Amino acid sequence: MNTFQTLGLEAHLLQAVSDLGFETPSEVQQKAIPKLLKEENDLVALAQTGTGKTAAFGFPMLQKIDINSRTTQGLILSPTRELCLQITNELKLYGKYCKGLNVTAIYGGASITEQAKKVKRGAQIIVATPGRMKDMISRRLVDISKIDYAVLDEADEMLNMGFFEDIKSILSFTPDEKSTWLFSATMPKEVAVIAKKFMSSPIEITIGHKNIGSKNVSHEYYMVGSRDRYPALKRLADANPNIFAVVFCRTKRDTQKVAEKLIEDGYNAGSLHGDLSQNQRDLVMKSFRNKQIQMLVATDVAARGIDVEDITHVINYQLPDEIETYTHRSGRTGRAGKTGLSIVIITKSEQRRIKTIEKMIQKQFVKKEIPDGILICEIQLKALAHKINDTEINGEIDNYLEEIKTLFSNTTKEELIKKFFSVEFTRFFNYYNKAKNLNVPKGDTHFSQSDNSDNSARFFINIGKKDGYDWMQMKDFLRDSLGLSQGDVFKVDVKDSFSFFNTEISYMPKVLEFFNDFKLNGRYINVEITEKKDRSRQRRRGKQKHDGYGNRGKSGRGRSTRSSDFKHGTGSSRPRRNRRR
Ligand code: ADP
Ligand code: MG
Repeated sequence: MNTFQTLGLEAHLLQAVSDLGFETPSEVQQKAIPKLLKEENDLVALAQTGTGKTAAFGFPMLQKIDINSRTTQGLILSPTRELCLQITNELKLYGKYCKGLNVTAIYGGASITEQAKKVKRGAQIIVATPGRMKDMISRRLVDISKIDYAVLDEADEMLNMGFFEDIKSILSFTPDEKSTWLFSATMPKEVAVIAKKFMSSPIEITIGHKNIGSKNVSHEYYMVGSRDRYPALKRLADANPNIFAVVFCRTKRDTQKVAEKLIEDGYNAGSLHGDLSQNQRDLVMKSFRNKQIQMLVATDVAARGIDVEDITHVINYQLPDEIETYTHRSGRTGRAGKTGLSIVIITKSEQRRIKTIEKMIQKQFVKKEIPDGILICEIQLKALAHKINDTEINGEIDNYLEEIKTLFSNTTKEELIKKFFSVEFTRFFNYYNKAKNLNVPKGDTHFSQSDNSDNSARFFINIGKKDGYDWMQMKDFLRDSLGLSQGDVFKVDVKDSFSFFNTEISYMPKVLEFFNDFKLNGRYINVEITEKKDRSRQRRRGKQKHDGYGNRGKSGRGRSTRSSDFKHGTGSSRPRRNRRR
């Protein structure tokens, strides 16, 4: 019963289905395809990401349009360029035996004349983002006055992105007699308004919780102090050496920052958000698909609908504002029959949101503990052992083997193994040796481990953006100059001509001493304390000149005595970036 053969599709489309390896139609396909084939109706279909919606509207549209005509007969609106391209590609695959089929994608950030040319060649189907579509209509580069079918794909997302007016305007250029098919994962008020306004007695289809992917996805959450999200993310990555993940943040800014930090800390990470140019986005996606990027940090909009197989983890670095978005996020993993894990990092106050999500997805979350440092070291060590065991021997080494053997002639096998492993392992061990417990203890609403450890000092330094530093370069410069390691310099805030940074209070003398009479390119560098937080000794010495968090009191050029011209370091003002992995 549940076969594509019973849906009413023509033979050449069934052949494409079979070429694609689709065995059984998904629920939304079973429900939508026969209806859309049989009658000219409007349709509202609610189904989550990954339920096969593209085929649900794509096959009926392909069957119903007149391939021999060059008139544009179908218009599909979709929220992002990525989705636009994805739908276009899918439709081309579905219609591979439709001779003369021309499906054209229209989206911002690419040449409008090129796109217009393709349309002019006779695109029977146009897949477009609302912004660019509107643009092309106003320049009379497309004609949608004769379309028979309009699809609003991911309608909730399009409205989320503020496309209501554009959609309204675009639809006003289409004939009243057309059929409108609306697909959405959720049914917020705005979508209902669209359905009411632009559709006449639509057929309604609702697909429950039978997301193709979701049954394969497990859900976990970790509770940490609000300032421990990032260290927690790192530990999760370190505890899963073969991770291939999308990390979701709420804002473009956080997305960029988390990605930058990860890269700085030596991970294969990249960011995907709306402020990147189209070209940058393409590059990031390419690296991600090739697995050169292991952790893609993304905003919801930018990652919506991205169909990359084998994603092992979806990490909610922050929960989304709209709870419905969670299903989209977790739908990025557990695809194509594989299992996946959706992880949420929360603070104590967000705990109730987990309950709300559980109700929505009708699945339980498992509360997990962020692994401690020793466990991570163990995991890394074992992963390394397996990696070495699986490594193919490179024959070139034979040429140097005698020399190497001589060097190790007095080393036992056991010693050699230990030394060999220490090369990689020591880095992890040093980092995690004294790592604190990041988990928020049960039953205490306000206590956070990180608050406890905020025995930090905040410093002012009179170099900034003007001197060619961004926060990452500043952090590197400080760490390298002071001989400190990862994480010892934090809260780096680079302004135009000065900056602020924090270190543990115990490094305070070291910092002050180092920068006492320090010259950079012939200029004295001035470093001063702006704030000290020491739980045990809550006192502040000296005049407070600026709080370092935006309010600057007096001039930063405080000290006046320069006893010598002694210079530390190389004097180069451009610090080098050092990558570890
Ligand atoms: P949605 O638009 O609902 O998020 P898509 O249409 O993008 O979902 O489909 C998700 C993935 O599932 C795509 O890779 C698609 O090729 C695949 N797919 C669609 N229908 C089927 C099917 N019946 N059987 C197997 N895979 C399918
Ligand atoms: Mg889709």
